[in-house]
Amino acid sequence: MLRYFFFLLPLLCVATANSQPIFRWPMEGTLGKDFFVVNYVDHDSAVGLLRDHHCGVQTYDGHQGTDIALPSFRQMDSGVTIVAAAPGRVFGVVDTAFDRNKVSVISRGFGNWIGIAHPGGIYSYYAHIRRGSATVNVGDSVQPGTPIALVGSAGNSTDPHLHFEVWNDSALIDPFAGPCNSTGSRWIAQPEYDTTFGVIHHGLLGWVPTLDTLREYPPRPNAPFSPLADTVITFWIHEYGVRAGDTSRIEWRRSTGELWYEWTFAHDAGYRYYYWWSYIATPPAGDWHVRYFLNNRLAASDSFSVQGVSAVAQPSVAGISVRYNASSHRVAVQLPEAVGISVRLQLFDVAGNHIGTANAETDAAGIAQIELGSWDIPHGLYALQVVAGGKQFGCIINY
Ligand SMILES: [Zn+2]
Repeated sequence: MLRYFFFLLPLLCVATANSQPIFRWPMEGTLGKDFFVVNYVDHDSAVGLLRDHHCGVQTYDGHQGTDIALPSFRQMDSGVTIVAAAPGRVFGVVDTAFDRNKVSVISRGFGNWIGIAHPGGIYSYYAHIRRGSATVNVGDSVQPGTPIALVGSAGNSTDPHLHFEVWNDSALIDPFAGPCNSTGSRWIAQPEYDTTFGVIHHGLLGWVPTLDTLREYPPRPNAPFSPLADTVITFWIHEYGVRAGDTSRIEWRRSTGELWYEWTFAHDAGYRYYYWWSYIATPPAGDWHVRYFLNNRLAASDSFSVQGVSAVAQPSVAGISVRYNASSHRVAVQLPEAVGISVRLQLFDVAGNHIGTANAETDAAGIAQIELGSWDIPHGLYALQVVAGGKQFGCIINY
């Protein structure tokens, strides 16, 4: 009986200083849609001065990596995969730190990270990863595209992002080639240097947010806004590519087009990743438009409705019904089957100051109509008091 032995000879790969790896993109998804490059490596060693590989300023002072940011924590929660950028061996894994930081604290450093040693004495670091998300261990071999972790916001991080940093044995490497980085590109396909402006997301709220709350993309209320529930209407926008000297302008208009309020804001610094918001006191009932312009070009718009506050007293309880029509500014007071009853209406502002008094008589249907339009008062909330037929009724109206 013949036995055949097959010997598989390993192919020997000899790594030299010249055979340095080139990288695939270290994150799954589409650039400009699922993530954005918000900071490159800073090539200017002078304190306070910035220079990225393209001789621009899309970096921050002393930044040693490439920051690839997700649009939101919501997207982070859905799980965005970080992959090995080139073949190599894992030499470091830390994934035990808190991963939802929103404030920059330099001493927190990478927080959680994975390090991969590549042929040619090249090392890549994948920083700020989600807690408990590492899928490789020290000593594991990885190939380009091997999933290693999920994007997080651990360590010195304000938003969910991957900080991708590359070193050789002695020096930091910026993988992006450009007029201010003489070393060649380390990317298989280097993404274009992006200086465009874009809107990632925007929304409306019935309250005043903070930067931290906006980072969570709070949902817009389902119901129309109401002056009783919402003291303000906030428009917020998450954008990228805002430059120093740009001007943001916001317009609030009635659906008829009438301008209600306008505000202009000049940016004194550039940001690749930026939250901006503006709010107004809840306007009168009706349909409204808000439009946001960057450098006088429409960048985002939204519409909303404000519910009128109409006060209704139950006749069976009080024997009086008071309705306010916010568009005609008319108050209808009804006392069933009470003809020719005198009705006295008094209006106060919310500080309690008396605005005016109006008198009327109920008609054949027991209704008295009182126009509030003749009083020259600003829009807002007012207290209404009605006395008729020995009955008294009070309510708040949104004039
Ligand atoms: Zn970074």
